[in-house]
Amino acid sequence: MIEKIRHAANTPAGKVTAGVLLLLALIMLIWSILSNFGSTEAASLTSARTFICTETGKVFTTSLREGWTVPVPSPYSGKNTGVPAEQCFWTKEGTLKSEPTYVLLNEYLGKSDPTFCPDCGRLVVQRNPIYRVGDPTARPPPTREEYARRKQNED
Ligand SMILES: [Zn+2]
Repeated sequence: MIEKIRHAANTPAGKVTAGVLLLLALIMLIWSILSNFGSTEAASLTSARTFICTETGKVFTTSLREGWTVPVPSPYSGKNTGVPAEQCFWTKEGTLKSEPTYVLLNEYLGKSDPTFCPDCGRLVVQRNPIYRVGDPTARPPPTREEYARRKQNED
């Protein structure tokens, strides 16, 4: 049997078949790696996400289930009042901390004014940048006062 394959591989047609099989194997390999990447990424999106209850201000994590839309059910209010919580990694002094403060954005409350972190008093926006302690590129967002001053200068 092995002899037969070896023989077949030596014929031009056999070489083509072997080449095609090798190519297919390679494609399958790449495809399986890529699809694995996809599934881990999808998993991180659908698994534990942090929400904040607009009614109680309490933070909770929940897995987004198929068919769920924001706001998601909140275990604290028993209603659909859970909205994505933004993470703020700043302190009043303008340094980074390792544990974030979870912030409820004003826009989820139907308010148009910017949101400031209840802990450090700095500006928090949607998809607030996530920084790790020691990140040299991190610049602290403006405090309420700095923000107001900036706005004044613009006008
Ligand atoms: Zn903060």
